[in-house]
Amino acid sequence: MEIRITGLKKYYKSEGNIIKALDDVNLVIPSNRIFTLLGPSGCGKTTLLRSIVGLETPDEGEIQIGDTVVWSSKKKIFVPTEKRSLGMVFQTYAIWPHMNVFNNIAYPLQNQKIPRAEIEQRVRKVLEFVQLEGFEKRPATRLSGGQQQRVALARALVAKPKVILFDEPLSNLDAKLREETRKELRSFLTELEITAVYVTHDRVEALALSDNIGVMRNGRIVEIGDPKKIYFHAEHQFVADFIGRSNLIPAVVEKKDANGSIVRTDIGQFVCSQTDFDPQSKVVVCIRPEFVELVSADEPKPVNTVSGIVESMVFVGEVYESEIKVENTQVMVKFPATVDLSPGDPVQFSVRPEHCLLVTE
Ligand code: ATP
Repeated sequence: MEIRITGLKKYYKSEGNIIKALDDVNLVIPSNRIFTLLGPSGCGKTTLLRSIVGLETPDEGEIQIGDTVVWSSKKKIFVPTEKRSLGMVFQTYAIWPHMNVFNNIAYPLQNQKIPRAEIEQRVRKVLEFVQLEGFEKRPATRLSGGQQQRVALARALVAKPKVILFDEPLSNLDAKLREETRKELRSFLTELEITAVYVTHDRVEALALSDNIGVMRNGRIVEIGDPKKIYFHAEHQFVADFIGRSNLIPAVVEKKDANGSIVRTDIGQFVCSQTDFDPQSKVVVCIRPEFVELVSADEPKPVNTVSGIVESMVFVGEVYESEIKVENTQVMVKFPATVDLSPGDPVQFSVRPEHCLLVTE
């Protein structure tokens, strides 16, 4: 089911200040996809999710789930949470420690007075789905963190919601388990064909899990796109920087033709494939460390070759993370683990025009 959010505003007053938690959010969350709201702490992700759920009352705007308007300031509509056909996996809705796995999952159905035989059949089916058959009688506290998350997911799914909402559900798991659970969750959700809205401030989680990502800042949606679009073709400096490590170098566009642009920076000219900006525009060149290529002294210089001095070389397993000083600018780069360079060494590197991303401040 599609979720349509129009002109949503939520302001809080705190110590005489107005906090714009949601500042005119307009968003369409597509049906049967995994949509992630990504942004730094305090940008309004949870407020938006809680407004969709009905746990928060916005000040203005409208929220429509499928064909039903569930909240509207103008039309004075408020559909309560339990009538919105939603499943939730929130940290605050953790599983109940005093119940076994079966009762944890059956609880939402028992509340609806569904016959015992049907409850048993539906719980068995979701347990099979989350691969926890045979765990029915296990006390919920005697499960691993990942298994507890699967119980929480099963409990959300058992009511057959059309939409499922997640608020940082993996943040209590250790790094390895988080990675495994993330993969599982993606395959569960893809198989289910359900609309999933997922909140996180973890960029890797957002990239790995989502079909689409909406990046938020200060109560607004800054950019929306699939993970590759957000990573490789961000339009704003904030998004490019938030989604991955990057060198952000202020630049001015000098020339532009059908094949690309030439920009001027403090560390020299760069040829870029992009043609979105007119001459004299102030832009920022975003260069990801992994796209910097080493140029050896005896080979012809490719386009966008820059000379500098190695400042640091840190071996982090698969690669070296290095800093290179070019004029007064430090450039972060990633070099293959086989490279033999030390601080103080002169070095040349290049960046292909298609990897010089131009963004606005
Ligand atoms: P996090 O990732 O830290 O959970 P978030 O992006 O989910 O952050 P929200 O919890 O939606 O952010 O909060 C958005 C803004 O609204 C923040 O500045 C927060 O301090 C403020 N805020 C949230 N709830 C209240 C409240 N009840 N009273 C006052 N301010 C609030």
